[in-house]
Amino acid sequence: MDLKSFVSAVAAMISGTKTDLQLAKETAIGQFKRRLSFAGKHEKYENEDLPAGSPVYVYCKHCGILIAEDYLFRLFNECSQCVGLKENGWLDEAKR
Ligand SMILES: [Zn+2]
Repeated sequence: MDLKSFVSAVAAMISGTKTDLQLAKETAIGQFKRRLSFAGKHEKYENEDLPAGSPVYVYCKHCGILIAEDYLFRLFNECSQCVGLKENGWLDEAKR
C-alpha cells in the first residue's frame, strides 16, 4: 500500500466516511495479516517454562504479537489494533 492510500484509509477510519470504509477495512486486515506473520516468525516465551521470578510475557490472543513483558497494571490479552478490528466487525474476516 502506498502512502496516499494509507493516509486515505486512516482519514476514513477517523471520519467514518462510507466511501473509504472499504479501504480502511482492507488496510486494517492487511495490518492484521502482517502482525500475524511477524508473530509467527518470532519465538514465544512459555511463561510456565521460565524460572520463577522471570518476566511474564503477554501476547495478543488474536494476532500473537507481544503486548507486554511483565506488567503492573490491569492488562488485556488483545492488542489495541485487534480490538479496533473487533469493534468494526472485521476480526472474523481478518482471521480467515
Ligand atoms: Zn492483536
